[in-house]
Amino acid sequence: MRSLEYVERERVQRLNSEPIRSGKYVLYWMQAAQRAVGNPALTFALALAREHRLPVVVAFGLTPRYPEANLRHYAFMLAGLRETAAALRERGVRFTLRIGDPPQVALALASEAAAVVTDRGYLRHQRTWRAEVATKAPCAVFQVETEAVVPVELAYPREAASAAVLRRRIQTLLPQFLRSLPELEPSVPAQDLELPGPEADPAGDVLAELAIDRSVPPVDLPAGTEAARRRLARFLEEKLPRYHLDRNDPTKDGTSGLSPYLHFGQISPVEVALGAKEVGGPGVEAFLEELIVRRELSFNFVLYNSRYDAFAGLPAWARDSLRRHANDPRPALYTPEELEEGRTDDPLWNAAQTELRRTGKIHGYMRMYWGKQFLRWMQDPEAAFRLALHLNNKYALDGRDPASCAGVGWCFGLHDRPFPERPVFGRVRPMTGAGLRRRGLLEAYVARWQGGLP
Ligand SMILES: Cc1cc2nc3c(=O)[nH]c(=O)nc-3n(C[C@H](O)[C@H](O)[C@H](O)COP(=O)(O)OP(=O)(O)OC[C@H]3O[C@@H](n4cnc5c(N)ncnc54)[C@H](O)[C@@H]3O)c2cc1C
Repeated sequence: MRSLEYVERERVQRLNSEPIRSGKYVLYWMQAAQRAVGNPALTFALALAREHRLPVVVAFGLTPRYPEANLRHYAFMLAGLRETAAALRERGVRFTLRIGDPPQVALALASEAAAVVTDRGYLRHQRTWRAEVATKAPCAVFQVETEAVVPVELAYPREAASAAVLRRRIQTLLPQFLRSLPELEPSVPAQDLELPGPEADPAGDVLAELAIDRSVPPVDLPAGTEAARRRLARFLEEKLPRYHLDRNDPTKDGTSGLSPYLHFGQISPVEVALGAKEVGGPGVEAFLEELIVRRELSFNFVLYNSRYDAFAGLPAWARDSLRRHANDPRPALYTPEELEEGRTDDPLWNAAQTELRRTGKIHGYMRMYWGKQFLRWMQDPEAAFRLALHLNNKYALDGRDPASCAGVGWCFGLHDRPFPERPVFGRVRPMTGAGLRRRGLLEAYVARWQGGLP
C-alpha cells in the first residue's frame, strides 16, 4: 500500500477484512484527533484517497449523550471543531458535522465510501464504537494511532506496572516515531460532493439545539489548534527552561496548560514534543517524561486494564491495604455535597476545588493533594475513588481522559510503590499538605480562590 509511505506502518491497524472497494470517497471518521494539522489519520486518509484517485470526506458525529460530558466540555470542543472545519475547507477537504451516535454517523457515510479511516481512542466506549464500525462497515476500516507518540501496543504489549517499565521501551522507540508527517493536499476536490443524510453547520449555534447536561458553565479559555499553538509557543519560550524547577510549585504558573487541547486532540503530541526538543535545555527531559511517558502510561492503563475507572482496577496491594484501613478514624468526614461545594475545614483544599469548578483546572501538584484527601475524609475508599473521579470528570476541561483514571488511580496507589504502613492511607503514599503549607502557599493560593464561586 503506497499510502503507508506517508505514515509509519506501525501507526496503522486494519480493523476488519473488508476490501477497499470502489466508492465515492475515502471517509475519515474523526473522533479523538479533532485537528486539521499534525493528524496521522488525516494524512493516511489523504494518501489512500490519492492512491485510489478519490476525494476525502471528514465526518464528525456529535452525540448529546457523550459519557460524562456537559456544557463546559461541549462548548470547548465545538469551538475547536469550528476552527478545524474551516481549516479543512481551506485545504480543500470536505468536512461534515452530523448530530447522532458517532458509529451510526460513520456507518451512514461508510455506505458510499471506498474505505473508512479513523483515529485512536483508548477508553471503553471509544473502542466499542470503533469495533461496531469495523464489524458493520461494507468496506475496509483502518485505525491510525493519532494520540500517542509511540503506538501504545508497540510501546508495551500488556499492562505496565509503573512508568519505569514503559520509559525504557519508549526511549528506544522514540527516534522512530518522533517526527512530523507531511501535510498532503487532496488530489481530487471534494467540496461539491453530495453526501447522504442531514448536516449541521459547524459555524452555527449547534449547541443551542443539543439536549445536553448544562449543569457546568463553560470556561473562559480559547479553544482550538491556533490557541493551543500560541500557548505552546509561550510555554516553550518562557517556561520550558525552568519546567524541571517550577512545575511542582503551585504559586508559579510553570507548566504548559496544554492538557485540555491534548485531551480534545486539538494539538498533536508529536508537534508539542518536537517543539520542546528543538528549544532544548534542562527542562526538556522532565517535560517529555510527563507529555510522553506519563501520558502514554495512562493510555496503556486504560487499554489493558478493563476496570480502569473503578477501585477494582487498582493494584491488589493498594486495594487490600486501603480496605484494611477503611475503619480507621478519619480526621473529619464530609458528604459528597460538602466536598463538591468546597466546604471542608481545609482552606487549601477548598481553594483547589473552587479553582477546579471555576476554571476547569487545578495545578498539577495541587491536583495530587486534592485527589489524596478524599481518602482522609470519606470512610469507604471505594466511594472516595468514585467521587474523586466523578468530580474530576465533571469539572475539569481535560477530564474524562485516560489520564483522569490514571491520575485519580495514582492517588490510590496506582503506578506507585507501597510505603510504610500508616493510618487511613495504609501502604499508599500519604500526602497531607504539610510541605505545601510550609511553602507559604496557603496564603497566596487560598487568597486567590477564597471568594468562592462567582
Ligand atoms: C487526581 C488527578 C487527576 C488528574 N486528572 C487528569 C485529567 O483528567 N486529565 C489529564 O490530562 N491529566 C490529569 N492528571 C494528570 C496531570 O495532573 C495533568 O495532566 C496536568 O496537571 C495538566 O497540566 P499541564 O497541561 O499544564 O501539564 P504539563 O506539566 O505541562 O505536562 C504536559 C502534558 O503532559 C501530560 N501529563 C502531565 N502530567 C501527567 C500525568 N501525571 N499523567 C498523565 N499525563 C500527564 C498532560 O497531557 C500535559 O498536558 C491528573 C492527575 C491527578 C493527580
